[in-house]
Amino acid sequence: LLDPRPIEQWTRTTCGYCGVGCTLDVATRDHEIVTVHPASDGSVNRGHACVKGRFAHSFVSSPDRLQSPLVRRGGELVPVSWDEALDVVADHLRAIHRPDAFAVISSARATNEENYLIQKFARVAIGTNNVDNCARLCHAPSAAGLATTFGLGGGTNAFDDLDRCDAVLLAGSNPTDAHPVVGSRILQRVIDGARLVVIDPRRTELARHADVHLRPRPGTNVAVFNGLAHLLIRDGMIDEAFLRNRVAGYDELRDLASDYSPDRVSDISGVSVDELVTAAHLYGDAAAPAIFYGLGVTEHLHGTDGVRTLANLAILRGAVGTATGGGVNPLRGQNNVQGACDMGALPDLLPGYQKVADDTVRQRFEAGWRTSLPSTPGLRIPQMFDAARQGRLEALWVVGEDVLSTDPDTASVRAALDACPLVICNDLFLSATAQAANVVFPVASWLEKDGTFVNFDRRFQRVRRVVEPRDGVRTDLEVFRQVAARLGVDLGCATPAATLDECASLAPLFGGISEQRLDSDSALHWPCGTPDDPGRPTLYLDRFATADGRAHLAARPYLPPGAEPDPSFPYILVTGRRAEHYNSGEMTRRTPNVLLRADEPLDVEPSDAAALGLRDGDPVEVTSRFGRAVLPVRFAAELVPGQVFSGFHFPAAGVNELTSPLGDDVTGCPEYKVTAVRLRALQTT
Ligand code: SF4
Repeated sequence: LLDPRPIEQWTRTTCGYCGVGCTLDVATRDHEIVTVHPASDGSVNRGHACVKGRFAHSFVSSPDRLQSPLVRRGGELVPVSWDEALDVVADHLRAIHRPDAFAVISSARATNEENYLIQKFARVAIGTNNVDNCARLCHAPSAAGLATTFGLGGGTNAFDDLDRCDAVLLAGSNPTDAHPVVGSRILQRVIDGARLVVIDPRRTELARHADVHLRPRPGTNVAVFNGLAHLLIRDGMIDEAFLRNRVAGYDELRDLASDYSPDRVSDISGVSVDELVTAAHLYGDAAAPAIFYGLGVTEHLHGTDGVRTLANLAILRGAVGTATGGGVNPLRGQNNVQGACDMGALPDLLPGYQKVADDTVRQRFEAGWRTSLPSTPGLRIPQMFDAARQGRLEALWVVGEDVLSTDPDTASVRAALDACPLVICNDLFLSATAQAANVVFPVASWLEKDGTFVNFDRRFQRVRRVVEPRDGVRTDLEVFRQVAARLGVDLGCATPAATLDECASLAPLFGGISEQRLDSDSALHWPCGTPDDPGRPTLYLDRFATADGRAHLAARPYLPPGAEPDPSFPYILVTGRRAEHYNSGEMTRRTPNVLLRADEPLDVEPSDAAALGLRDGDPVEVTSRFGRAVLPVRFAAELVPGQVFSGFHFPAAGVNELTSPLGDDVTGCPEYKVTAVRLRALQTT
């Protein structure tokens, strides 16, 4: 029955699930969320939202919410007061032997202001650059690859440029599930006449609407992108004036691409010659083609090469850094993964992508923060786990990430947490990682705090407190400030607004961004250098941000993936998102107000299932070189035989017990998209 009492308040905020950044109007009554409406004037979503943003909010009042800090005593986590828990952490941190014996994993779920403060805590209160965030597991290759190619580690164009493009090349992404509002907008653009090339092993919904669908074997993207570059050059679809005036590295790429004939690329990838040629011409003959891509490009052993060789196509075509080009657009996964990187929650970069190793940069931050800073880049997430297992880490603080569920090779992550003397965890719920921690702080969700997020197209937007935090809960900002105070360090940043102002004063990319402006302008794209700068939705119109002002083509050869199928492990497992859930599912699995998928199936192509004697729903044992899991089978005609697919939203399913510890050779991003496995039907009773 509908509650007849009137709504008391509407609060406008930004969705805390995926990186699209939809604007939501949230209605409350008696301090409870009643309903959520997508804002019709939302700058990204224009009145749309997906099932998560629209309905998955009742986790906020879930009885499972943590409402007291927990400290491990006698092997058990027991509730203690805030003072006691803060003291335990501060006492331990005061006693560590070296600053680099501490590491912190910041959070793409936290606000920009919290990420700024967390990296400041590591660098100022402890004196280490051992700070990283989950971009390491998804789009670190984008940040590295795009920065090397164009000068900045973000997407080149605003999402609204989609409305002007006449062709879309969508690579390694299923936005219908992972970024639903983007998926709908791309589909609408196709219905309106844009041509669509999809590069994805799975026949996704958008692939069904594509003019051509390339289905490369997982791990062969670089060969396909080099093959497309070969065809753009061979068939005269390059912008010679653009290459002459604004690009470096053409001769090297032309020489390398000459080795990637369609026949050779077809042999490597399994993509037919005809489809490759068709795709090259759909992209190359368009007046304003746009590239969108996702984790199917980045989560590979050579993910950064994938990003750079994909970006080559836009450069060859002159479709980036111009008023008409659609550019190169990474679809960032989590709500604020772009912002976590922007704020310097990275081991080698201070806020605004300024290098810790650069003396001039460091001196500016040292003056602002009135301290000396470490100059050596810190540990990345996989290196943090290595250090913990080797006894070199005395404290690891994990903020809002369930690393035991989402990071690859669960057994090695578990060993790292077991070996670390103090694991601190900030979370809403007693996640698998929280259960393994020594101290757990209960913290506020995105609907209970103020600040800002940055979405996938570099758009700062406001996050507003919709309801008061649950009793006993504090914000990440408060927790880190309070531990620092116990260590005798005043981090400043008393409010989110003051934190953003401090960041703006030290990071020229964000110099003109403030809460005040966002409250009146609703969104600002960085770079935005001064208070009267309107921001730059489209980058590089005059020059690229590299040292020489040119875009840098990458002559990178195809190298094989870390895992290949063999007789012992004949199938390739690809993992990815499903539409209804978000990461480890801690929030979306606690939303009884909407019918969400309630299990984690293994998608198996029907002919493979028949060969194994599997029926829909049967349990199947999946074994990789790293671990084992048992999942129910779901018939999936969208797969190529020999490939299986799974989400990772149900920790109990143990999908990441299977995945490999191998990572991108530049950034360490895990090779989630290529795990060799074998399947065995289990007896059903
Ligand atoms: Fe929009 Fe993503 Fe939130 Fe869905 S999950 S409403 S697409 S921001």
